[in-house]
Amino acid sequence: MRERADVVIIGGGVIGASIAFHLAQRGLTDVVIVERSALGAGSTGRSAGGVRQQFSTETNCRMSMLSVQKLRSFESDTGWDPGFQQVGYLFLLTTPQDWELFQRNVALQRGLGLEVDLTAAQAAKAMVPPLMVDDVLGAAFCSTDGHADPTNVCLGYAAVARELGVEVCSGVSVTGISLEAGAVTAVETSEGSIRTPCAVIAAGPWSGEVARCAGIEVPIQPYRRQLYYIERADSIRSTAPMVVDFASSMYFRPEGPGLLLGMTDRSEPSSFSTNTDDRFLAMLIDQAVRRVPVLEGVGFIRGWAGLYDVTPDANPILGPIPDVQGLIMASGFSGHGFMHAPATGQLIAEILVDGNARSIDVSAFSSERFRGEGITPERNVI
Ligand SMILES: Cc1cc2nc3c(=O)[nH]c(=O)nc-3n(C[C@H](O)[C@H](O)[C@H](O)COP(=O)(O)OP(=O)(O)OC[C@H]3O[C@@H](n4cnc5c(N)ncnc54)[C@H](O)[C@@H]3O)c2cc1C
Repeated sequence: MRERADVVIIGGGVIGASIAFHLAQRGLTDVVIVERSALGAGSTGRSAGGVRQQFSTETNCRMSMLSVQKLRSFESDTGWDPGFQQVGYLFLLTTPQDWELFQRNVALQRGLGLEVDLTAAQAAKAMVPPLMVDDVLGAAFCSTDGHADPTNVCLGYAAVARELGVEVCSGVSVTGISLEAGAVTAVETSEGSIRTPCAVIAAGPWSGEVARCAGIEVPIQPYRRQLYYIERADSIRSTAPMVVDFASSMYFRPEGPGLLLGMTDRSEPSSFSTNTDDRFLAMLIDQAVRRVPVLEGVGFIRGWAGLYDVTPDANPILGPIPDVQGLIMASGFSGHGFMHAPATGQLIAEILVDGNARSIDVSAFSSERFRGEGITPERNVI
């Protein structure tokens, strides 16, 4: 392991790997990724891989639109197949408030140049025939949304970064961040110290703990999310879109010969637990069968849980921490970190190489927003 580096990235998930790739592409190759387990072993490897551009704020829409462009060129940029399938995202809306929210969202998204439609319940049913739509007031569909393979995207970025000179240290834990006169001087690890003027915290749900090593408190909390792989009913095509029952947060999409099925239990408190549990599974089956009756009785093949890194406004903290020179945050993605990883890598590279994020105005993601009263929460959260 190098004893000195221009940049040390803490965390080898898709965010850390994307940052390393984009820094290396911009010629900044004296970079080390420190990952305590294996690349992609955190939330990245447990994600549903959903990629959508339908958000409620301009910044999140732009993050997704840039990421979609980058996923489309991923194979030519890296030589790795990202498994990107633009089969669309279909949101089913069953309450007047949600229907109204999505009408506003769609107006915003169209204004940014995104092709997205509001459709009637029967049009949604035509896309996915076994849906029960009796209570659906309307739906929103964007055909360029879809899903990709989080592990391949993470490994692809990391492999090319490594070829360009980035060092990836797996199985090494960060134990401290040393400061002198308010500036980063070293990242301390289980294998020794790396002298550096710049530490990037990309440790996903563990980012709050890592930031504390530098004496900084950031409002990022871990929340368990469970996901199941089940048999697919024949009447759900393998090219069906990601379907989101927005009010309950239950979602599903085809994956290989089966379906990925998940939901957020909004009553669950913050924790680092990654166990699956039968109470949640019963709730999930109930919601899934209510919306898609043909799922009653299909086989559940396997389930797992991972962690969302959640902030109070469901937006990430992106960019420099003003109180500590050389400390950069790229975490708190609140469940949309995979889809925003390509844009995040480019933006952090711009911040470090050019001095500011040029492609997208990410001032709404600054750590300072929590000091004032001006936060704009993301409303389209799953
Ligand atoms: C069930 C589930 C479904 C999801 N579905 C989607 C989806 O459909 N679309 C989407 O965009 N997002 C989704 N997400 C969220 C997405 O997975 C995350 O936002 C994204 O993977 C975050 O990547 P990351 O690199 O920030 O974090 P991680 O992948 O968690 O990487 C952080 C890494 O930091 C390492 N680390 C932590 N502490 C230390 C330390 N002290 N020293 C060294 N290394 C350390 C960890 O080992 C880990 O590998 C989902 C998440 C879950 C759990």
